[in-house]
Amino acid sequence: TAIILNDSELLQTGLYLDGQWHQQGVRYSVYNPADASVVADVVRAGRDECQLAIDSAEQALTTWKTTTATERSGVLKRWAQLMHEHVDDLARLMTLEQGKPLAEAKGEVAYAAGFLDWFAEEAKRVYGDVIPTHKADARILTLKEPIGVVAAITPWNFPLAMITRKVGPALAAGCTVVVKPSEETPLSANALAVLGERAGVPAGVVSVVSGDAAGIGAALMSSTVVRKLSFTGSTATGQLLMRQAADTVKKLSLELGGNAPFIVFDDADIDAAVEGAMASKFRNTGQTCVCVNRFLIQDSVYEAFTHKLAQRVAALTVADGFTSGAELGPLINDRALDKVELHVADAREKGGRVLCGGERHSLGGTFYQPTVIADAQAGMMLAGDETFGPVAACFRFEDEIQAMALANDTNYGLAAYFYARDIGRVWRVAEGLEAGIVGINEGLISTPVAPFGGVKASGLGREGSKYGIDEYLEIKYLLMGGL
Ligand code: ADP
Repeated sequence: TAIILNDSELLQTGLYLDGQWHQQGVRYSVYNPADASVVADVVRAGRDECQLAIDSAEQALTTWKTTTATERSGVLKRWAQLMHEHVDDLARLMTLEQGKPLAEAKGEVAYAAGFLDWFAEEAKRVYGDVIPTHKADARILTLKEPIGVVAAITPWNFPLAMITRKVGPALAAGCTVVVKPSEETPLSANALAVLGERAGVPAGVVSVVSGDAAGIGAALMSSTVVRKLSFTGSTATGQLLMRQAADTVKKLSLELGGNAPFIVFDDADIDAAVEGAMASKFRNTGQTCVCVNRFLIQDSVYEAFTHKLAQRVAALTVADGFTSGAELGPLINDRALDKVELHVADAREKGGRVLCGGERHSLGGTFYQPTVIADAQAGMMLAGDETFGPVAACFRFEDEIQAMALANDTNYGLAAYFYARDIGRVWRVAEGLEAGIVGINEGLISTPVAPFGGVKASGLGREGSKYGIDEYLEIKYLLMGGL
């Protein structure tokens, strides 16, 4: 595939180490999920290359951490600005390697730049304290210091935003970062690195290594220099990394899987609930960790809601992400498609009613028809496990107590959504849901200004917002005695 960009330098297939692009080494292919064609062959990093990246991050830390907040803020602001200026190229690369519709990719570029902008501001607001003393001849102060070298391991579903959400606060705090993007989407990460360099990110402050995930992971996790891991991805990989982090006692931020409930109560505005459902379920072809996994609908509005939802879903435009008007692109790979097929087959077998979709799409490849399944039951695979695809499973409940029990009947606790208008119910349910994020009469909850993160097996820590930078800071307390 010929890749036509306005700025051809944004296409980088090398390895970005210590401010240099390295072209030598074994390469692996990055595929376009829409047609399985090869987009590019990129250098495959492993344990050794990652060690070089860690060394350069350690070296760069000595000067980067002593820069003023204003300097770091300026770099992050310019970086965000460059992302906006190159939105078309960044979106194009993203759609090529990830498959999401171009309009969504452009939306992600803006969202991703938003984290750099936000943390450019937060960099300037890292305050310490003076604490009232416990001894007449002593004074107590706190300093907030950068934790050191950070490992950022990110997934393919948001190839830019998951990186800026970590690199933004890390750089703002004065940390240096080794980024390990998903091997499915290294081109977006590399383009981001090009713009970072142009914005003034010094050599070694950000390196990008993708390829042998286990080897890179081993280098990062065994390093005593890497003091912090921020990971977004599957629960299984997160658990592995958490175990590996024990040996060097790294600070951890983990954004893992979810199993988001979306509750529609009988007092909900049903049309608004259907709108919210569409946005939350089908964005990125159902491949986000905050996508609804279980629709829980009250008996009296069950038929009305599922009918309207199925009508809307059946009208969605599935197409290559470059086709104008595309609303759903392909799934990322065959493994993702297999999981969706397995969940739908299992639901059918256990009495699920397919209201629309339920099959692979005629476009072939990893395209799947957007699907609504009614009469979903607790024993189905899609009740317990994230489908991560365009399948809306609708369960039924009788009353609020049952709805809450169903909603919380999962190990996960990232996002939850509900639609209701009764103010007492709104508070009861908002407080009763075991989740880090609750969308109330709203299906889109991601923004750089609010804290994103989960409870239970969905993870540790919060990203974005005024809290996000704390994950990259250590508090040092000074006790000054003998005064
Ligand atoms: P998914 O199944 O959605 O790809 P993963 O958790 O496997 O989710 O991927 C998220 C990120 O974790 C990717 O960058 C991936 O390469 C990385 N990853 C996977 N396995 C490991 C590992 N053993 N060590 C370090 N990183 C890993």
